Amino acid sequence: MTAQIIDGKLTAKALRASIADEVAKIKETVGVTPGLAVVLVGADPASEVYVKNKAKQTVEVGMASFEHRLPAETAEDDLLQLIEQLNNDDTVHGILVQLPVPDHIDERKVISAIDPAKDVDGFHPINAGRLATGQKALVPCTPVGCVILAKQAQADLTGLNAVVIGRSNIVGKPVAQLLLQENCTVTVAHSRTQNLPEIVRRADLVVAAAGQCEMVKGSWIKPGAIVIDVGIHRTVNELGKTKLKGDVAYDETAEVAGFITPVPGGVGPMTIACLLRNSVVACARLNGLPDPAL
Ligand code: NDP
Repeated sequence: MTAQIIDGKLTAKALRASIADEVAKIKETVGVTPGLAVVLVGADPASEVYVKNKAKQTVEVGMASFEHRLPAETAEDDLLQLIEQLNNDDTVHGILVQLPVPDHIDERKVISAIDPAKDVDGFHPINAGRLATGQKALVPCTPVGCVILAKQAQADLTGLNAVVIGRSNIVGKPVAQLLLQENCTVTVAHSRTQNLPEIVRRADLVVAAAGQCEMVKGSWIKPGAIVIDVGIHRTVNELGKTKLKGDVAYDETAEVAGFITPVPGGVGPMTIACLLRNSVVACARLNGLPDPAL
């Protein structure tokens, strides 16, 4: 079997087009332009690239983009003060503080300082709790992207045995919660899990988010399974050429799986699109409008 590729780039493009339509509708209905504020502390090169891409795509869908670049030595109190200012700014509907923040700043304090209604990363404990209890929440972007991609392979995931590899707060746990909501039977694996290959072999749907390059092998995969690869690893081959790889050994897995997301071009492009989606949803809710159909 050769797996069908689930194209994250195309799916993200279609989602951005729908977001642009919703942005236009909100502007027309209540005269408000959805606004996303991104805060970057320090000059981590990878974060710089993310922030630049986020700003570019924000403007492309017709939203307002506010960038706040602070020096690495910014005091925690000053960052918290900026967040408070953004919480109270009516032109800002989504707030994202690019993680990681420098070591002298308490990440949890920062996340908790963001108004949950504007927490477009979905990391605030209130949003995590709402997701876990099946209430209206802002849900972390990468997990939403994973589920949208899985539904490209099979629109109704009900009854599938899903194995999520990884239990981080930003990927593994929210993916598991979302798949439960989709009526999957969910197993969450982590670094202490015993017999992982055997567990994965029972899965109709595998979400690999362990942060371990090409850890998931083709021999672990049930024939026909849906494989969503969240991992991103920059590798350099013997010729010095950089290649992005995932948590899944792609070629051998694609021989067995029914559907697979590539790296790059799978989950990655969905993350920013889902951030824009969350920002539009946040804006609609803050203005008393129904949730956009995205
Ligand atoms: P974390 O390092 O926070 O979490 C990794 C999880 O995987 C942990 O729960 C860990 O278990 C588990 N794990 C580690 N090693 C193994 C193993 N050998 N077997 C089983 N489980 C294991 O990573 P993140 O969740 O933040 O990210 C995961 C991956 O996704 C990374 O490669 C990251 O770069 C990528 N990523 C991609 C994004 C995108 O937009 N495409 C966005 C976010 C992340 P334990 O809890 O026991 O330590």
